[in-house]
Amino acid sequence: MNSGPIHSPPVAAVEAPRADLIDRLVSLSKQRGFVFPSSEIYGGINALYDFGPLGTRMRRNIRNRWWRAMIELRDDIEPIETSIIMNPQVWVASGHVAGFADPLVDCTGRCRKRWRADHIANERAERGKDPAVVACPECDGRLTEARQFNLMFKTFVGPVEDAAAQVYLRPETAQGMFVNFANVLNATRRRLPFGIAQNGRSFRNEISPGNFIFRLREFEQMEMEYFCKPGTDEELFAYWCDERLRWFIEDLGVRRDRLRLRPHEKGELAHYAKAANDVEYLFPFGWSELEGIANRTDFDLRAHQEHSGRDLSYFDADANERVIPYVIEPAVGVDRIFITLLCDAYDEEEVRGEKRVVMHLHPDVAPVQVAVLPLSKRAELCEVAGRLEHELRPRFATEYDETQSIGRRYRRQDEIGTPLAITVDFDSLEDHGVTIRERDGMTQVRVPMTGLADALRDQLEESRGRSLHRAAGSESSG
Ligand code: ATP
Repeated sequence: MNSGPIHSPPVAAVEAPRADLIDRLVSLSKQRGFVFPSSEIYGGINALYDFGPLGTRMRRNIRNRWWRAMIELRDDIEPIETSIIMNPQVWVASGHVAGFADPLVDCTGRCRKRWRADHIANERAERGKDPAVVACPECDGRLTEARQFNLMFKTFVGPVEDAAAQVYLRPETAQGMFVNFANVLNATRRRLPFGIAQNGRSFRNEISPGNFIFRLREFEQMEMEYFCKPGTDEELFAYWCDERLRWFIEDLGVRRDRLRLRPHEKGELAHYAKAANDVEYLFPFGWSELEGIANRTDFDLRAHQEHSGRDLSYFDADANERVIPYVIEPAVGVDRIFITLLCDAYDEEEVRGEKRVVMHLHPDVAPVQVAVLPLSKRAELCEVAGRLEHELRPRFATEYDETQSIGRRYRRQDEIGTPLAITVDFDSLEDHGVTIRERDGMTQVRVPMTGLADALRDQLEESRGRSLHRAAGSESSG
């Protein structure tokens, strides 16, 4: 079913990204148009962000990679799209109303900040303070006893704001798959095992958001529920752990030595889970969750069957019996992948005595694949370059840029992770050739304009190869 297990490398061998990387990414993202603070002209709003022209393109590429791996290349997973606001009974049945809470503590000292009790040690370590001491990570003030804080955002449907009209913004997309299990089963006549997947916005009133876009209050998830016969769940859980780890390395080019699978301890497991592994990435602030993979057993379908009174069982024709399927769930956030890719791709090099910032993004996630640059603003060059870019548009994610010096334009393209740049110069008018400059090695080749698209296709394929090589090996960067 897959390419075999991918083991995590020993922690000691791993080179973490530089400690100040997040600050650099925040300013690069703003300057180049990846990420902006939400409603910034009003001072912003905590843990909410907007995505700029490049960020929006990159997020779409991330979603497309996931969609391709989960839906297009497989014949056992169906896509759906469900509403953000659902009948509130969904969240009673799922356990979210009673239990989707984090332990909250307040600082009684100088700063009066609120913290997640289970994050205190990490937050202190990040600030260079003793993680063993239970005190405010900011000002060392005394902390209150922990109390449970429900993370679901509430609102009302209709004109009357009373308890009967109260609803929630979904904190995960998964429940949309569970409550539609019977609908999808009837509509597609699927047999186990099969999956239902969706991608969409989720909302959590996080107590201690932070680290740029790592923990947001509004974010986007890509989740898949893989329904299977009880008894086959453990094997499928192992399969999906390998498969998802493989996806990050091969399809997104994430460095394998900064990825690991971390099994949840018994006390850490969610109420619905029999087993869970986090795919973790070594961020500048330490190993943290990138994706969660859980064996949710038959908890959700059974709970919805009980609460709704509807039959959510599956008739197993081979065994001639009805079963409630078990579920394996890989769940990941688009924003979480986004920050991972920025951390993973960022590199600074010295080139001829100058600093070069380069993003080694995989060519299928980079917001621009091919930049078309006339050497100068001379009309003849711009005209040829403009026409070329127009011709290449249907096949590649292109950008035309005639501003500033060619050196500065190369630097900009390196910074936004564009794998290939085409330069149209004065010789182009005579020899009908252009120069293709490749991002990582900065090598240049001269190719004829006729057949340029095929040459670019080949070069992008090589770029994919380099990305995989970088991900699988352990070249230094960051
Ligand atoms: P935590 O315990 O860190 O609060 P979680 O384990 O509850 O998070 P899941 O419910 O497993 O998170 O969510 C699945 C995935 O959705 C996560 O792996 C992450 O990629 C993404 N995600 C969850 N919460 C957030 C958030 N607040 N901001 C951005 N992405 C998130």
